[in-house]
Amino acid sequence: MTQHTTATHGSNLGIDGQALWSDLMETARFGGTPKGGIRRLTLTAEDRQVRDWFVRTCEALGCTVTHDSMGNQFARRPGQDDSLPPITIGSHLDTQPTGGKYDGILGVLGGLAVLRALHRSGYVTRHPIELINWTNEEGSRFTPPMMCSGVFAGVFTEQEVLDKRDRAGKRFGDELEAIGYRGSEPCGQHPVTAYFELHIEQGPILEAEEKTIGIVTGVQGARWYEATVTGKDAHAGSTPMPMRHDALLAAARMIETVSEVALSHAPTAVGTVGLIENQPNSNNVVPGEVFFTIDMRDPDDAVVRRMEEQLYSQLPEIAQRSGVTLDIVRIWDAPAVHFNPACIDMVEAAAMESGYSARRIVSGPGHDAAYMARITPTAMIFVPCADGLSHNEAESITEQDATAGADVLLRAVLKADAAFNSR
Ligand SMILES: [Zn+2]
Repeated sequence: MTQHTTATHGSNLGIDGQALWSDLMETARFGGTPKGGIRRLTLTAEDRQVRDWFVRTCEALGCTVTHDSMGNQFARRPGQDDSLPPITIGSHLDTQPTGGKYDGILGVLGGLAVLRALHRSGYVTRHPIELINWTNEEGSRFTPPMMCSGVFAGVFTEQEVLDKRDRAGKRFGDELEAIGYRGSEPCGQHPVTAYFELHIEQGPILEAEEKTIGIVTGVQGARWYEATVTGKDAHAGSTPMPMRHDALLAAARMIETVSEVALSHAPTAVGTVGLIENQPNSNNVVPGEVFFTIDMRDPDDAVVRRMEEQLYSQLPEIAQRSGVTLDIVRIWDAPAVHFNPACIDMVEAAAMESGYSARRIVSGPGHDAAYMARITPTAMIFVPCADGLSHNEAESITEQDATAGADVLLRAVLKADAAFNSR
């Protein structure tokens, strides 16, 4: 038996927690998996289904729904002065191949709950309010992640994204056309006043500290690398230990060092080797070549730079000692993002006045908000998820926390509506 909650704002302007939860469960059917998660890769039939649902549902709340040339969807509720650029709310409805029901989805459907609250109470904001569903946040079918908020913010060009291909060789632009969501408005030609994003934390801190709301102050810096270790394939039975050039053994030592480097900047820094390919990967061959990735992050860009220096000095030493060669290249550099102080304060005030326990927090993962912060005042709201688990079919949150997050989102949007002049 689920206990339903409703957050109120005096008058009758309040979040309908039951409706929000029912939207979460209803849309979870599009790509729903037997284990209770969602497989809704971007620009697939399931993505089209949830997009069509988004259009129908927002239109029923009196919104006009459009999409731009990258398929980003905008549900617009008019304001008193409809010539003002909108206050925007957004996140994403695409998922990982074995994704959960809340990553991104809570942000869009929480925004929908805000539109519903405004619609039912008849409250008319000064600015128009727009809810955005960003195309391909996950970056799992087409890399990189946050692709179309990236085009919107001028980080990527439209053409480079249209020409991306998935592993099956299908082109992004063709797949976007195929699901009927390539719009005529050029992506990015869409002025906005401010941007707010509600998201699950995807980490364990709020739950561990029994806080309902995370006031997100920014996104930590990250650098990604690709490393190729080259040794020599040799027979596992006949090659004496001192004569080997074992690429996998060297890679194992390097992987340990990645962890040690991150630990030397505890407690904030993280370092991960999450992908490894071993050649020839045969049980009786000393491995001759290993490819692996490295992901290093910290809220402080200076720490990320320092970790890179440590890797660049220590990994080649390991290679030399192990009789192999190392080629390492940085493939991604995302500096730390600092959200707008005024917007952060609005989120904090919203959490305080509604009485939720809250703390300031830096986001570990990247989000569409990280790109939006480049072009408009931006902040984020986190709510806890069970065991910090995300990108997993078992991802879980409570209806109470979902409602609280949407409530803080509504209050922050109303504060922004009052505070921003836009002229
Ligand atoms: Zn997400």
